[in-house]
Amino acid sequence: MPNRIFLSNSEISLNSFSENLMDNNDAILTFEESIESYFENEKKVAALNSGTSAIHLALILSGVKSDDEVLCQSFTYVATANPIRYQNANPVFIDSEKDTWNISPEYLEIAIKDRILKGKKPKAIIFVHLYGMPSKIDEIVKIARKYKITLIEDAAEALGAEYKGKKCGSFGDFGIISFNNNKIISTFGGGALICNNQKEKDKAVFLATQARDKASHYQHSEIGFNYRISKVLAQIGSTQMLKLHGNIALRRANNQFYLDLFKGIKGITFLKEPNDHYLSNHWLTCILINERIAGFTREDLISQLEEDNIESRPLWKPLHSQPVFTKYKYYGGNISDGLFKTGLCLPSGSNLKQNDFERIARSIKKLL
Ligand SMILES: *Cc1c(COP(=O)(O)O)cnc(C)c1O
Repeated sequence: MPNRIFLSNSEISLNSFSENLMDNNDAILTFEESIESYFENEKKVAALNSGTSAIHLALILSGVKSDDEVLCQSFTYVATANPIRYQNANPVFIDSEKDTWNISPEYLEIAIKDRILKGKKPKAIIFVHLYGMPSKIDEIVKIARKYKITLIEDAAEALGAEYKGKKCGSFGDFGIISFNNNKIISTFGGGALICNNQKEKDKAVFLATQARDKASHYQHSEIGFNYRISKVLAQIGSTQMLKLHGNIALRRANNQFYLDLFKGIKGITFLKEPNDHYLSNHWLTCILINERIAGFTREDLISQLEEDNIESRPLWKPLHSQPVFTKYKYYGGNISDGLFKTGLCLPSGSNLKQNDFERIARSIKKLL
């Protein structure tokens, strides 16, 4: 059996590891500066131990408390919504639109109006750029401003993606990115909160380091968290940031490989940039399979790839359909459920080699 081809691996080299790491108190600051410089020094960044903790801190900084409501894109990974429950707040899930597969501005506004009518104005909106595809950002920002609701931008999968020449992660009141294993660059687990000013960043770091007051002894007047990134991972992060552009190019080339492979095949729809305002990092290449036209199902393709020891995976199951979240409110139709039924993520790692591409092509061509 040939080696397994995974869905989304990136290579991490540990060559440049500093030997005097224990003395290097600046490892975290250096990493934060490299992310701030990526965001053209218009943002202040707090490096954390995960994207999930970044979302949690964003919710706390947005004033989300027990029994508040938070509007949240339904078609996403569960980490987007779990922190809402950490705050004992309630998610209200919103369906996707067809172009970018991200939150539908129409349903978002319908939900806001209805929640206000019911006397429960939402405290925050979490929107996502899923699979690295920017969402309908102008429309979403406009709605958030119109109703004065804090906007949290989950760019965990979209580091390197851009909208109208501006970087994803920089559009919300807070942005979050992730350096988890499968993301476009990785620190073996890590994340960051993107803030608009130093005050917010300071508050985030304070909360992330057990909320220690200024005193010579350990004094605490608030509940804090152990959410700071470790120095070791921060040092890896600084070298990984240098690989970001290269990795984006590799992921985008993967996407082109699949576009060429499926050229002329009817019944396959790619997630693609709606117009040239959108630049996806193509973190994962995703397709929808229309069984009637293609003559095979999503499951057929998964089994064929699996038989050849190649990993693929259905799209995210919408959160409003997840057992843990079915009791929460949902505004929308059946767009995200439809995507889940027929959609597939293809192997998209930045470490795929020529030989892997050949194997993937051979495997898929058996079905075509
Ligand atoms: C990975 C991911 C997260 C969470 O990031 P972690 O670093 O794994 O905690 C949040 N949202 C989305 C959409 C993700 O893909």
